[in-house]
Amino acid sequence: MWGTRRNPSTRQPSHNPESIPVGSQTVRGLLDWQPLPLVLLSEEVSMPIVNRVADLHGEITAWRHDIHAHPELLYEVHRTAASVADKLKSFGCDEVISGLGRTGVVGVIRGRKPGAKVIGLRADMDALPIQEESNLPYKSTAPGKMHACGHDGHTAMLLGAAKYLSETRNFAGTAVVIFQPAEEGGAGGLAMIKDGLISRFGIAEVYGMHNYPGLPIGQFAIRAGAMMASADHLAIDLEGKGGHAARPHLSIDTILVGAQIINQLQSIVARNIDPLEAAVVSVCMFQAGHTDNVIPQHAQLRGTARALTAGVREVLRKRIGEVVEGTARLYGAKAKITYTNGYPVLVNHERQTALAAGVAGEISGDDKVNTAVPPVMGAEDFAFMLQERPGAFIFVGNGDSAGLHHPAYNFNDEVIPVGTSYWVRLAETALAG
Ligand SMILES: [Zn+2]
Ligand SMILES: [Zn+2]
Repeated sequence: MWGTRRNPSTRQPSHNPESIPVGSQTVRGLLDWQPLPLVLLSEEVSMPIVNRVADLHGEITAWRHDIHAHPELLYEVHRTAASVADKLKSFGCDEVISGLGRTGVVGVIRGRKPGAKVIGLRADMDALPIQEESNLPYKSTAPGKMHACGHDGHTAMLLGAAKYLSETRNFAGTAVVIFQPAEEGGAGGLAMIKDGLISRFGIAEVYGMHNYPGLPIGQFAIRAGAMMASADHLAIDLEGKGGHAARPHLSIDTILVGAQIINQLQSIVARNIDPLEAAVVSVCMFQAGHTDNVIPQHAQLRGTARALTAGVREVLRKRIGEVVEGTARLYGAKAKITYTNGYPVLVNHERQTALAAGVAGEISGDDKVNTAVPPVMGAEDFAFMLQERPGAFIFVGNGDSAGLHHPAYNFNDEVIPVGTSYWVRLAETALAG
């Protein structure tokens, strides 16, 4: 979905004495941001994976495949959530809480050093209503559902981190692992917040991660400030006057009105938004009429409006209302607009972004971390958590895979040691005491 590539910096990577370097370090130029053939991975990519995480790779992969084979939608992630809770208990988490935000799960892991700070590490558990097109041995067993956004991988990696952190507890304070339902449009993260996620556990900082097709495996991308868009929902219901297609002068044609509205809406981005800002208005559904000789009385339009600042978001909301109402009135039609706020702009905080980028550099080498990735106009439920507490959301390369939400997409298991190592080092760094 996003697939943006950038030339990374060429700073020298740092090395962590507790890590084992896998393969030799090579500094490359632009080619770093082209997909790497997997066969080269173990030979050419420097990746100081945490020792214990490397040991857990097979186990975490098996969890991922099990979740992949049993995809569940939105809040209906009952099997996944139960499995997550069981595993967290078996790891010896200090507390495991289920049913937060309906089907969310939280694990609390206290470090063995004294400290009051609490951080939240978040993964998402839900799949998508897509028919999987693959021959994987662990392909979806649920018709019309699949893990096409890699949330199976996100959940498995955070479980791996929870196992490591429960075993080692080499930090001061508390790590809270958060498994949310309904990231794909259901605002499950917001539901967990409303259920007391932040206050109940005293979370001071929050961190999230998403895989990123097109970014090579072993690489990360992040930026401080706005990194993903707000995404609001637009529903327009038009009422005109139906009639015979041969007598258009006696009708009010909702197809013509809808077409004019679609065109006029594009003038908002072109003429009301500062050209140096980003905005999207897309009408993605237009339904009207049933046959070729009737002017339809009703028409429905559905779409999305996206922005990277609250100011632009507000201009879109205001102008869309004016343009739709004004255009409908011009043709004598009635328009009912339902404008629903969706996910807000995802804004990474400066200090936590620097910390996250530093940890990513420790895992992969600083030259494999792009700290100035251009923002994307996709949206993320994690934005709500970043409105509550400072934190950072990071992209981890999924290599040359099909895009997110594609029926042939698959999370790459080679990402597991990278992402899991990131989580455990992030916890140990943010909670260094
Ligand atoms: Zn998705
Ligand atoms: Zn996703």
